[in-house]
Amino acid sequence: MSDGNITLAEIEAALHAGELCFYYQPKISFQTGRMVGGEALLRWHKPDGTLVPPGLFLPQAEESGFITDITAVMVTELVQDIARLRVLKPDIQIAFNVSALDLRSPYLVKMLRSFIGNQVINPGNIQIEITETAIVDRSERIHGTLLDLVALGIEIVMDDFGTGYSSLDVLSQLPFSALKLDQGVVGRMAEDSKNTHIVRSSLLMARDMSIRTIAEGVETETAYAFLLASGCNEAQGYWMSKPLPIEDFKQIIHDQPVWPSSELGFLYNAWANHLSYRRKVLDTVYTLTMTDPAQWDKMPKLDLRHNAAYCRLGQWYRDIKRAGYAEDTYERLEVLHREMHAAGEILVKTVQGQTGTEAIIAATDEFLKFSEQVDQEVSRILAMSFADGLRQRDPETQLGLDLKSAE
Ligand code: C2E
Ligand code: CA
Ligand code: CA
Repeated sequence: MSDGNITLAEIEAALHAGELCFYYQPKISFQTGRMVGGEALLRWHKPDGTLVPPGLFLPQAEESGFITDITAVMVTELVQDIARLRVLKPDIQIAFNVSALDLRSPYLVKMLRSFIGNQVINPGNIQIEITETAIVDRSERIHGTLLDLVALGIEIVMDDFGTGYSSLDVLSQLPFSALKLDQGVVGRMAEDSKNTHIVRSSLLMARDMSIRTIAEGVETETAYAFLLASGCNEAQGYWMSKPLPIEDFKQIIHDQPVWPSSELGFLYNAWANHLSYRRKVLDTVYTLTMTDPAQWDKMPKLDLRHNAAYCRLGQWYRDIKRAGYAEDTYERLEVLHREMHAAGEILVKTVQGQTGTEAIIAATDEFLKFSEQVDQEVSRILAMSFADGLRQRDPETQLGLDLKSAE
């Protein structure tokens, strides 16, 4: 260790002496403001009390291939930890990082299968995080392992999203349930709008692909609120909690702290999905009118579904009604929204039916008319939501201040 670098021999000794352990960093649901689980992060707890982060010893282990020994030993520790955490929270979700080497051989799947078979844990209790660099070579074996994990019921999360070169391509080819926005990209949102754009378009894309989103590196209240409003699903970061020793993590499960949550992100989410439907209809109409009908079977697949119940906005007001919110507030939205989707279907059929320009113009007008009315309704509900937020944050003074500044 003359140059300060940790040698492989030291890492091997640490593993066999049982000096490696996991810290757990809470993951919060934006929907409920409560902890849903956490990420297991490796630490080397030296006998002298120092704590060595994985960045200082995992690179050597990866390079030499010793990482698979670490994983094999530590996955057993992990499952024992999860079994203990499950006593407090049976549906706890713990994410575990694995490297490409761990996926090249079947041992990890075998171990997890036996833990699940013996009912030590449920498949829902564990999630596997992999970085895109780990799978970029797209070997058949890695792909096969991932499919085996999914068949076991384990979710796969793409880690460090927003940093790589081919994330999008990999995302479309492998069975990911969620993507995790890289902490660097999330952290730099306050410095450079490019990072904010990456975050926002990743959230939009994930939504279109029905993939969940987790933001890592949430260090400030404003980053948290922004991600909440942008429709991200879960958050992890120093603002809520640093990675903790298991005893402290258990305490959080026990205390059940509540972080901010609101319907706003869901409404935005639903609205964005709805706007995406509108674009799809208009893009389809444009493409159809521009091209030879004999070529229409070669149209890019858009997954265009007209039924209002498939649209997130349709699902949103259905859920909110179920949750017991005042029905009449959303009644008008529901009616207009259904009519807009019906008009979308008629419009596309009119174009496909080749019934002439006038019929197409009339159908387009009808579609856009309903579309505008839906927007107005959503804007009205959003305004109510902002007022609610202010009241929650600061019951009286805030409203007083705002009135003054508006004068
Ligand atoms: P990662 O998977 O991207 O993990 C997130 C890292 O960000 C963790 O660093 C975490 O402590 C840190 N972090 C969390 N919240 C914040 C925040 O708000 N701001 C900032 N700046 N950082 C935050 P950590 O624990 O040092 O782990 C580093 C990397 O080591 C991990 O990056 C992961 O790639 C790897 N790693 C950790 N545990 C394991 C493991 O068990 N197996 C394998 N193969 N890799 C692991
Ligand atoms: Ca990770
Ligand atoms: Ca990361």
